[in-house]
Amino acid sequence: MSSSVAGKSCTICETPGSRGCARCKSSSYCSTDCQLDDWPVHKLLCASFSKFDVSARPSETHFRSIVFPQDQSRPEIQWLHCPWVDDEGEGVKWQDPDVTPFMGSGSMNTYTLIRTDALLQKRLPDVIDICYRDRFLVDGSLPNKSTAAILATIPYGSHEWRGPIVAVGRKGQSMDPDSCRDLGMNDFRYIADYLIAYGRWSLDLNTPGKPHQEVVKGVRINCVGDRKVFGKPLYEPVDVTPTDSVFNRHCNDTSDIADRIGLPILTRQCPPSLRWMRTKGQYDFGGESPDTNQDATFLHLCCDPKADKFPAGPGWSMAGFKWQQSVGSVIVVRRDQKPLDPLHVEALCHYCRYDIRPLMGHTMGEYAPDEPLARDLVLQMICRPTFSISWYKLCDRKHEEGQVVPELSPYEV
Ligand SMILES: [Zn+2]
Ligand SMILES: [Zn+2]
Repeated sequence: MSSSVAGKSCTICETPGSRGCARCKSSSYCSTDCQLDDWPVHKLLCASFSKFDVSARPSETHFRSIVFPQDQSRPEIQWLHCPWVDDEGEGVKWQDPDVTPFMGSGSMNTYTLIRTDALLQKRLPDVIDICYRDRFLVDGSLPNKSTAAILATIPYGSHEWRGPIVAVGRKGQSMDPDSCRDLGMNDFRYIADYLIAYGRWSLDLNTPGKPHQEVVKGVRINCVGDRKVFGKPLYEPVDVTPTDSVFNRHCNDTSDIADRIGLPILTRQCPPSLRWMRTKGQYDFGGESPDTNQDATFLHLCCDPKADKFPAGPGWSMAGFKWQQSVGSVIVVRRDQKPLDPLHVEALCHYCRYDIRPLMGHTMGEYAPDEPLARDLVLQMICRPTFSISWYKLCDRKHEEGQVVPELSPYEV
């Protein structure tokens, strides 16, 4: 079921797309793979989009927009009036959407321009303006039912949206686009990904045309899905730009154990790959979830002896909630930005999992009839000497396996 859509790029990737959805004739795709990838989201709006009569445009300042009502199970297409506003004296004209019919009168609204898709890792051809209630989590707004079906398309816990949401297209990629445009089904996909990624993944794209940027040598710990589907190694060397969100304290995390042994690191989770995220039985993940990343989980064990388990949050010997499930692949860099070798990260994860975690388990009575170790004693054992022993043992083992090991230990870099 495809029809020809000329001159557009694929909704999903950057390849020119020549296939389109036969019903709505709005999205374009380069391949069946990309079309299948889009389908779980696309099908939520395709029918209503197809029925919408563009020739019935009430005026030339009305635009085809997408509304997410809080009390309906599906989003819908609606005309949105965006009259021109003249900023007195400034000589600036721009189109100001009248969202009152959908947002309700008297609500304080926030507008956010979406210019990238963190899940597809791409820059959007035209930006999208999203309007939601300023303080929807605390102003008594009800959970938004029409976003539930979208969030359910990936097996990840997602942000809870409340109150109505309205999206309108803006022309171009500028920081301050003044004129509106009709939204298409490709925009719907980008809006869906925004709703899914909100508060979890962001994408910082380097400004194009910028001269060579310095990079930090980091390591990516690949999750089960990235290893099985793309054949990636568990520990992969990666170049990280200084603008990467791993350096942003709102997005990154640290490791208690690495801090204690004097090798402070910064970490962040990567967005899940669409290839394994929406896969149903196409790959064998050996009974594990494709977003499992045990090494990253052990790397984030809590070393606060005073922090205790639920419901206060994760505590002593546990990893934080976001490190317990749906972890995905993880970027690791040194806080001092010195180069990080994949074997350094392997040693760190190995140390956390096989040296430290059993000691922590001992404090929890896991080795009865032994008297549980005191937590303070375990903390004293999380130190440079015990890590160094672990590091040289690992190097010996790798050496025997015929692998090249780095000349310098993480402390000598
Ligand atoms: Zn494509
Ligand atoms: Zn369609």
